[in-house]
Amino acid sequence: MKSTLNQSVPTRRVFIMQVAAASSMLGVAATAQAAPPMVVETDAQAMSLGYKADATKVDKAKYPKYAVGQLCSNCALYQGKATDAAAGCGIFPGKQVAGKGWCSAYAKKA
Ligand code: SF4
Repeated sequence: MKSTLNQSVPTRRVFIMQVAAASSMLGVAATAQAAPPMVVETDAQAMSLGYKADATKVDKAKYPKYAVGQLCSNCALYQGKATDAAAGCGIFPGKQVAGKGWCSAYAKKA
């Protein structure tokens, strides 16, 4: 009986240490995956909306509604602060758009 107790204490201690180490590794992994990927201009949806990460590169002949000063960062669908370099957008779920970008779904933030 006494020998069983002596053997179980180190085993329990090792188990607790392993759980603590695994938990901290999961925390690191979750942090590393926190930032969603950027929308790529050549994505099918991005191309169909004329998305450009740099609004000055918008094809003005194809998208005459574009006006200088329209940026993702001042669009109603931009999910970040106006000063954020990139943030989510309701049009591109699970991805980020550039704050200086633009697409034809632009809607001025009220
Ligand atoms: S909907 Fe607005 S925030 Fe989203 S990509 Fe188009 S212009 Fe940028």
